[in-house]
Amino acid sequence: MTTDSRGFSTRQLHVASTTAGAEPRALPIYLTAGFRFSDLDESAEHFGTGAGFGYSRTGNPTVDAVERRLASLEGGDQAVLVSSGQAAVVVALLAVAGAGDHIVVATQIYEGTRGLITHNLERMGITSTFVDATDLSAWRSAVRPNTRAFFAETLSNARNDVLDVAGVADVGAAHGVPLIVDSTFTTPYLLRPLEHGAAIVVHSASKFLAGQGAVLGGVVVDDGRFDATRDGHLFPHLTEPDRLGGASYAERYGHRARGQYIRESVAPRLGPTPSPLNAFFIGQGIETLSLRVERQSANALTIARWLAARPEVTRVDYAGLETHPHHDLARRYLPRGSGSVFTFTLAGGREAARHVVESLGVITHMTHLGDVRSLILHPESTSHAGRTEAERAEAGVAPGTLRLSVGIEDVDDLLADLAHAFDTLPVHVATVPERPATAESVIA
Ligand SMILES: *Cc1c(COP(=O)(O)O)cnc(C)c1O
Repeated sequence: MTTDSRGFSTRQLHVASTTAGAEPRALPIYLTAGFRFSDLDESAEHFGTGAGFGYSRTGNPTVDAVERRLASLEGGDQAVLVSSGQAAVVVALLAVAGAGDHIVVATQIYEGTRGLITHNLERMGITSTFVDATDLSAWRSAVRPNTRAFFAETLSNARNDVLDVAGVADVGAAHGVPLIVDSTFTTPYLLRPLEHGAAIVVHSASKFLAGQGAVLGGVVVDDGRFDATRDGHLFPHLTEPDRLGGASYAERYGHRARGQYIRESVAPRLGPTPSPLNAFFIGQGIETLSLRVERQSANALTIARWLAARPEVTRVDYAGLETHPHHDLARRYLPRGSGSVFTFTLAGGREAARHVVESLGVITHMTHLGDVRSLILHPESTSHAGRTEAERAEAGVAPGTLRLSVGIEDVDDLLADLAHAFDTLPVHVATVPERPATAESVIA
């Protein structure tokens, strides 16, 4: 019989509300809204300096562990985990730009990011200029006195353009403008943009980092190299005293000012807080990142070569192929592999594309990428449907273009799946009548 004289309702809440002391080897999941303060000094200290943990929107031990792991893998100073890749992009941009500011953005970017910039940020008073990511002089001539960020992706969808990270970062640095890089397609295993001069890296952790296609997440990694003496006048929110006249972010945190601003001001106030459960899944995923990405890149190269030799295919846009226009940049920036997301174009146009996506058995027809499973999508009618015909052509998206995200399956099974789909194509859409001499990576 229990000697606890408290009532049933009290006991159902307060008996055994903590675990027995033991140190789990796997990352513990702190699935809790908040944390008990041991005394008044601790709560005051937490609210005053941010030390320790109080409420999961401003900090959580599971989330914190995954952040430290990602900061280490990216070679950054600190990482802030958020609820999606889109949230990571918003948080990164609002850390540097506000109403009246201007950003320069690569034309070749994820459609969600493009909409965010052209619509939502525009409505908030942040204007933008889009430039061809591969044209350094275009970046240079787009800079205005109120430019506060460059934004680009490391590998573009669909043409697989490879970003010259150091080249673009240098153009920005000459004007005090930080380069924000979306490195979702490359992951820190293949490329660490901060080592090449980028200031901030963002990822959709929903893709390769989590890897299993089970959860969404995003991350912002800051380089911790903010220089208030040189660039402080461009970012007054980091250098001006706080509301009560206290020290600015730059005075309190020095080179870490921008990262701390992201952590203390932007992410928790906008509120895209990651669930500790999702953080756990992302942390689990990262434990096998190198193995997955290595296998996925190897599979992708095998499939790209196979596709390039098929008569049904007019072009393969994979930076890992010697014939890709950016193959030299890929060798320089991606020596461990060129990733596993790329497009190929069928001679038979949309009808052929329809037949292939509907005939595959191993490769899944869905929107997503970086999954352990191989996935395929028809960009013209999905991800790029909101673009004009000319924009699609520029992006390398034709009616017969398909995007593959190659998984970790046995590559022979993936080739057999594709071969079956190709071999059953209706004769009138199967092959090009006159095939160009070299079909790989032809820029039409
Ligand atoms: C998926 C993706 C995003 C958006 O990430 P979500 O996690 O879906 O919000 C941003 N950038 C790139 C390159 C992506 O592939």
